[in-house]
Amino acid sequence: MSTMLIKNGRVLDPSENLDGELDLYIVDGVISDIGKGLEANADETIDATGKLVVPGLIDIHVHLREPGGEAKETIKTGSRSAAAGGFTTVCCMPNTNPVLDSATGVNYVRAVAARDSLINVHPIAAVTKGQLGKEITEFGDLRFHGAVAFSDDGMPVYDAEIMRLALEYTAMLNMPIMNHSEIPELVGEGVAHHGRVAMKLGLRGVPRAAETASVARDIELAAETGGHVHICHVSTARACELIAEAKQRGIRVTAEVTPHHLLLTDQAIETFSTMARVAPPLRGAEDRDALRQALRNGTLDCIATDHAPHTDIEKNVPFQEAPPGMIGLDFSWALMYHEMVGAGVLTLSELVARMTIEPAKVLNLSGGSLAKGRNADVTIIDLEGTTQITRETIKSKSCNTPFLGKQYSSKIETTIVKGRVVYSNGQCTKLEAISHP
Ligand SMILES: [Zn+2]
Repeated sequence: MSTMLIKNGRVLDPSENLDGELDLYIVDGVISDIGKGLEANADETIDATGKLVVPGLIDIHVHLREPGGEAKETIKTGSRSAAAGGFTTVCCMPNTNPVLDSATGVNYVRAVAARDSLINVHPIAAVTKGQLGKEITEFGDLRFHGAVAFSDDGMPVYDAEIMRLALEYTAMLNMPIMNHSEIPELVGEGVAHHGRVAMKLGLRGVPRAAETASVARDIELAAETGGHVHICHVSTARACELIAEAKQRGIRVTAEVTPHHLLLTDQAIETFSTMARVAPPLRGAEDRDALRQALRNGTLDCIATDHAPHTDIEKNVPFQEAPPGMIGLDFSWALMYHEMVGAGVLTLSELVARMTIEPAKVLNLSGGSLAKGRNADVTIIDLEGTTQITRETIKSKSCNTPFLGKQYSSKIETTIVKGRVVYSNGQCTKLEAISHP
C-alpha cells in the first residue's frame, strides 16, 4: 500500500462544491479521504500551504503527432509538456500518419502512451477512413479499443450525409463527434480572418460564415439524429448564438474555445508572424469578446488548447505557406488565469471548472473531480508565482507560440497522476520512476 497526504492547501473542486483549506489523503493512487486537519501517516507528505489544489487539468483537444510527425512532437514529449502545464489527462486527435482510423492505430497510441507518457492519454479516432470523408470508421470497435470520441479534426466532416450517418451511429454509443466545423469552399485559400487586417496585408480571408454555416448544419443534423456534436475551437460570435439557441432547444451540442481565440485578435498577424496563423483564424475584437461572454455563461463548455506543434523550419516561411496551429499545453493555465481571472471574465472557480469537470463531462471521462474513490489526479498551483514562456522552459518538442518571451502570473507547482508526482518545480519525473514504482 502506498499513501500520500497533501496538507493545508486551498482545495478548490467545482465538481464537489469544495473551496477551503483541506487535506487530501491518497491511498494506492485513489482519493481516500478529504477533510480538515486529517491525522494520517503517509509515505509521502506534500505541504501545500498557501497553494491552490485542484483536480488535474483536462485538455480534450491536442495533437501529439505520433505516429508520423515525431519531428514536431511525440507522445513522450507531449506528455511532458502536459504534465508541466498541470494537465493530467489529454485526448489526442487522430490526424496522424497513418490516421487513427482502426483498432490497430488506437492500440498503438495506447501502447506507446503506457510506455512513454507521464499522464493519461486518450485517443480520439477518425470519423472517416483515412479522414478522406468518404466512408465512416468502425465506431463500436474503435470504442472497444479505447477511443473516447470521433473527429476528422484538421478537416471538417465535409459530406452532410456522412455527418448525419456518423451522428446516428454515435448516438447509439453515446459518444460525440468532435467537428472542425468549417465549409471548405468558404475557407478556400484563406489564411486569415476576412477583415481589414487581411485586406491591408494582402492575405486571403476566411469569412465568419465558413464557421457559422457549418455549425448551423451540424446543429440541424444533431437535432435530426439525437446525436451529440461537439464544436471544436469556436471562433465567431454568431456561432456562439447558434450554440446557445441549440442548447436551449435541448439539442446535444457542446463546444470548446482555445486560449488563443480568447486572448488574441487578427492584430496578432499584422507583423506577418506565422506563429499567429491558426485555423480557424484569429478574428476581430467583437468575436473575441463574445467568446469570453459565451465561456462565462456556459454556452462554450470548456477550454481546449488545440495544442498543435510545428517545427521552426515549418513555421519559418511566408505567412500563407506556414502550417496553421500553435502549442499550448505548457502554459495555458497561466495564460487563462492571468487574462481571464485577472480581467474578471471568469472567477477562479469558473476557470477551474472549465479546465477540469466541464471537459470531462463533454467526453464522459472519469477525471475532473477530487471526490472520494476517484483516481488521485491532482494539480497544485502557486497563484503568487509566475510562468515564463521561453524556449528553455517549454517542454514540448516545438516552440511555435506567439506568447514566447512573455510572462504570466501563477505557476504550476506539482502535477500528480494516480497518486504519483509526475512534475514538480520545473522538473518532470523520470519515466522509470513512474512505470516501475
Ligand atoms: Zn481543428
